[in-house]
Amino acid sequence: MIFMKVKIDQEKCIGCGTCISIVPEIFKFNADNKAELVDGADLTEHKEKINQAKDACPVQAISVE
Ligand code: SF4
Repeated sequence: MIFMKVKIDQEKCIGCGTCISIVPEIFKFNADNKAELVDGADLTEHKEKINQAKDACPVQAISVE
């Protein structure tokens, strides 16, 4: 099993919603209108789309390890 870790830098996120529209199974808005991870989301299953969202984020707020 591949271990993945996804982080969203809350300082950088501008709440544009791009990551959420690319992979709503993984990203959602929090109370501050910034992106956060959906609880219990299967990161490995959505790996490719997570990387797409990471590349599409206009402020590079998403990091994938
Ligand atoms: S794409 Fe980047 S800036 Fe936009 S909501 Fe997602 S993390 Fe925030």
